[in-house]
Amino acid sequence: MKWVNHEIVTGVIVYGSTGDLLSTAFAMAGAIFPDKIEGRPGASYWSWRARHRGWSHWPIIYIAILAIMQLGLLPQGEDLERGGTFICIGALFHILEDAFCGKVPFLLPWQKVGIRLFKVGSVTEYLFSMAVVIFTYIIHAQFMIK
Ligand SMILES: [Zn+2]
Repeated sequence: MKWVNHEIVTGVIVYGSTGDLLSTAFAMAGAIFPDKIEGRPGASYWSWRARHRGWSHWPIIYIAILAIMQLGLLPQGEDLERGGTFICIGALFHILEDAFCGKVPFLLPWQKVGIRLFKVGSVTEYLFSMAVVIFTYIIHAQFMIK
């Protein structure tokens, strides 16, 4: 999925469910994190390609960080915890979103799963992202009105 769609889909879902701009900003930073740490393709495209959607896209890492934070083993502090939590949530959304347009690691880093609903950057990807936004809006309008 394109970064712009990772940002939109993740941002809308997190804002729709938290109503909190700071948490949304952290989640949106996390939403491109798994691709960011892989680095740019650059000159060595094939070595990048071989690593693409590897360890950086393994959900267990982010779930483990969330669990460690829950146990209070990392530096404490409300903002720090919220930042860490929502960066991990954003990264998990990224991996889930990638699983709709290819394969990502699941229980084991080398065991990849996913359904290919559309090609990255295709019109279908943008329609899919728009559908998620509309769906989130409907859910929000139905259940979140105070
Ligand atoms: Zn990715």
